[in-house]
Amino acid sequence: MTNRQPDAPAARDAPIAMDAKEFREIGHRLVDDLADLLGGIAERPVARGEDPVAIREVLDAAASLPDEGIAAGPLLERATRLLIDHSLFNGHPRFFGYITAPAAPIGVLGDFLASAINANMGAWVLSPMASEIEGQTVRWISELIGYPSDCGGLLVSGGNVANFVCFYAARAAKAGVGIREAGTAEAGALRVYGSAETHTWIQKAADLSGMGTDAIRWVPTDGDQRMRVDELRCQVEEDLANGYKPFMVVGTGGSVSTGAIDPLPEIAACCREYDLWFHVDGAYGGFAAAVPESPDDLKALAEADSVAVDPHKWLYAPLEAGCALVRDPQHLRDAFSYHPPYYHFGVEATNYVDFGLQNSRGFRALKVWLALQQVGRTGYVTMMRDDIGLAQKVYMLAEEHPDLDAITTNLSITTFRYVPSDLRGREAESEVGEHLNALNKEIQLRMESEGEAFVSNAIIDGCYVLRACIVNFRTDREDVEALIPIIIRLGEAADGELRPAQLAIP
Ligand SMILES: *Cc1c(COP(=O)(O)O)cnc(C)c1O
Repeated sequence: MTNRQPDAPAARDAPIAMDAKEFREIGHRLVDDLADLLGGIAERPVARGEDPVAIREVLDAAASLPDEGIAAGPLLERATRLLIDHSLFNGHPRFFGYITAPAAPIGVLGDFLASAINANMGAWVLSPMASEIEGQTVRWISELIGYPSDCGGLLVSGGNVANFVCFYAARAAKAGVGIREAGTAEAGALRVYGSAETHTWIQKAADLSGMGTDAIRWVPTDGDQRMRVDELRCQVEEDLANGYKPFMVVGTGGSVSTGAIDPLPEIAACCREYDLWFHVDGAYGGFAAAVPESPDDLKALAEADSVAVDPHKWLYAPLEAGCALVRDPQHLRDAFSYHPPYYHFGVEATNYVDFGLQNSRGFRALKVWLALQQVGRTGYVTMMRDDIGLAQKVYMLAEEHPDLDAITTNLSITTFRYVPSDLRGREAESEVGEHLNALNKEIQLRMESEGEAFVSNAIIDGCYVLRACIVNFRTDREDVEALIPIIIRLGEAADGELRPAQLAIP
């Protein structure tokens, strides 16, 4: 300690504090603004196509840190305006890009409540009710998808981290004793298997865990983007013969590009045979296992040692909410638990610090727990079924249109592309193929800047295709029907401008 005179104020006037009256007033105003935004979201553009320079100018991005504070009310109003006037709205009924769902309104309110309580979910003692709510949320998520509800699990930031958590559980369980102490060098050349369509989290996991991305075996897919289990078996056999140590197979339940579902029952059988950890990446599609008519291949996620799902996708939770489920909770402790001297928790309960990467943790579970009860299993099944039906509608509309090619439809993802009818049948010619790729890229970009609707893309067999993913409870038939004339109009305009002379209509 120094012998400096203490500056211990008798009564503090902390500039960050806010009395109840002010909090109520500016809070009500914010709620009013957000109610207007959500109520009128369909009338706004999905996106405004502003470039980074324009956005930085509106923000005054170069301004330096203020020395003195300003009043909270006007400050919050300015922030609200900036965001309402310059955002992309994934809550818009015509947003079909990537896999980004609108935020359930009850989840928005749940996040507000959660941050006001500010429970620290690392330890039960710091979050008694909140920790139990997280436990119930994890059980309900597993019940919803048909996974054993006595599994271990926790809420994390999203699909990437949910998959990471499962990856580390697999590694601790299968790499052999001592990997956490001795590291990967001692464990031998570990190998992890996933289809060529596996999401990029697997590269980050292999890299950051010290195995390196060469530890990943990318198993070829069939014509429907599904893992070829015969190829998986060959690769495992070959690796065993060469002294490598296979430890984990990742099956994808709804791939990010096309929604393809790997043959999970056959992967499960292969894992049993070779004593490998069977993980399912169900970040996008896992929840669709709750829909009774879903493919049995998807429902077989019930057999996995671990499953990653993403409530901020098909449960429409506001960002961020992912969830890792591990059949035997002990495997989570075996992968993550330490007992430092500064933690002494008296009660017998789950301390989530033992289950994952984080120490202090926020209360992500609340928004999910609220929505699960607001709509129930039936509500979710209906909403997912509607999303799937709308994606199939896009496929049919593309099939029927002379200038569109319907390519794939799985779960709620449909891929298709614009092919001017005079070039039909010539797609295999390299000049035509290149022009079609350029056209479809251009359609996507122009749609983004016009803001009437929003799609993203996929690459299938080298073709650049448009991709509509409907994970959006605000979308209805009129919205998907409106997509077709937009694409045709943009496609005709772009074709007129970009068509190379040698492809001109004779
Ligand atoms: C979205 C997705 C991820 C990544 O999830 P984030 O929530 O974006 O971190 C991983 N795998 C699949 C199959 C996905 O669809």
